Amino acid sequence: MKFQCVDECAQCCIEREYFPSKEFGKIGVLILPEEKERIEELARDNKIQIKILPRIGVSEEKIQKPTKILAYQLMGIEENGNTCPFLDTQSGKRSPHGGFPCKIYENRPLACTAYPLIESDPINMDSKCKFCKENGNADENLNEEIESLLKIKEKMMTNAKFIWRYATGIGEPNDKSIIKEGWVLDEDI
Ligand code: SF4
Ligand code: SF4
Repeated sequence: MKFQCVDECAQCCIEREYFPSKEFGKIGVLILPEEKERIEELARDNKIQIKILPRIGVSEEKIQKPTKILAYQLMGIEENGNTCPFLDTQSGKRSPHGGFPCKIYENRPLACTAYPLIESDPINMDSKCKFCKENGNADENLNEEIESLLKIKEKMMTNAKFIWRYATGIGEPNDKSIIKEGWVLDEDI
């Protein structure tokens, strides 16, 4: 089946999930280090306030925090971590499939271009995406998604001994008491 966004859907630009568990808070859109400056510039040009936190780091020794950052994340604008700052929910404009449009669509992060693809060989798509909920995995019209996912994987490849994950401290008000903030070594997860 051919992948295409469900009419009027913008769910993946709005809903943010706890990952890998509630304690780590809600994640944002993955931003590669090489994309960070461009995204910050686009925010300035569009007069949009954004918050970028680290996401994954690495180190060769077990120290206090990573020595290199492999990925950042663009956080949502709502208190509970939802809604990308670049999503246009106000102007009344619509994307080609009728959802809220992205203000930086042509320059959006690779992670947005790859979504909802999680694995390319074999194809595995995010079951939370509205299309996938209704249809399961697609097998056509995924070229851009596959290309973007492979690029992300290539850029994030590492032989480093220690992998760190950043707990965002962001989530639903009821969960705040259990959500951590700061770097956590992956083996402690
Ligand atoms: S990728 Fe999935 S969740 Fe995102 S807009 Fe398209 S159908 Fe909706
Ligand atoms: S950058 Fe654009 S495509 Fe990506 S989550 Fe934000 S609004 Fe959606």
